[in-house]
Amino acid sequence: MVDDAIPTIISRDERRTPRDGADAIISAIVASARDAMRAASVQASDVVAAGCSSPGPLDHISGRVIETPNLVGFRDIPLADSMSDALRTQVYLDRDTCMAAIAEGLVGAARGAKDYVYVTVSTGVGGGIVTGGRMLRGVTNTAGEIGHWPVAFQPDPSRAASDDIPRCGCGSFGCVESFAAGAKLAEHYGATGASEVYAAAERGEPRASGLIERAERALANLAVGLVNVLNPSVIVVGGAIAAHQPAHVLEPMRRAVAERAFAAPAAAVRIVPATLGGDVGMLGAVLEARERASGRGDWFL
Ligand SMILES: [Zn+2]
Repeated sequence: MVDDAIPTIISRDERRTPRDGADAIISAIVASARDAMRAASVQASDVVAAGCSSPGPLDHISGRVIETPNLVGFRDIPLADSMSDALRTQVYLDRDTCMAAIAEGLVGAARGAKDYVYVTVSTGVGGGIVTGGRMLRGVTNTAGEIGHWPVAFQPDPSRAASDDIPRCGCGSFGCVESFAAGAKLAEHYGATGASEVYAAAERGEPRASGLIERAERALANLAVGLVNVLNPSVIVVGGAIAAHQPAHVLEPMRRAVAERAFAAPAAAVRIVPATLGGDVGMLGAVLEARERASGRGDWFL
């Protein structure tokens, strides 16, 4: 494999996440990996390393998941070790968005960049930050959780948080995710998915248009913050909503940066679509495992 080539996916297996505890989830991941290997006629002894992408917070060095609010019973789980034992190969764990950022940096839209931000706008909003050639991890490996960047405040804190300042799943309010995530757009509109909200806005339905405009303004504020604070050369924007609705995601981010970010960093940044599509998490897992197994992963550890 050439180092900057996009890895070839030779087999895949997908299944639903069990809802009855950590052991069931780990067993399902292991069974899925084994089935994918079997379908591609890959022997366990041929596998040098495996990558596992998970929601955080987690410790990518020890391979422990600290807590994932959306997965039942997933709390302080030694996920990498459990999978390593079952698959008989070294398993490297990392946060899904960090792995996606690594993939876009190594073989995608941020290839060659030393200062870039990966943003995903999908069911949720998340990201990864690379600055000075290093992944920004912070002291608890939660740096880059840009979905919880507050982009709005309550004008009157004596009142209950109103619809204008929606509560976020993290417990705070005003987070960019609480305005712009697909799940939140659908929830606020009362739809089953964000595509319904965009379709309604397309027809000129005023409530849908209002929610989408609010999401755009949240993303615009996020973009200005990222440019002013981190001074990246590239902001890569991925995720299903960014891919399907670039005029409502990338365009408002670009406009806001051009209009009101500091002039010097605004002139130096490109806001571009992600290039690796829906497989970015899987490609990132493979690339991170490859880089860590070969001792080249220092820049993102
Ligand atoms: Zn939040």
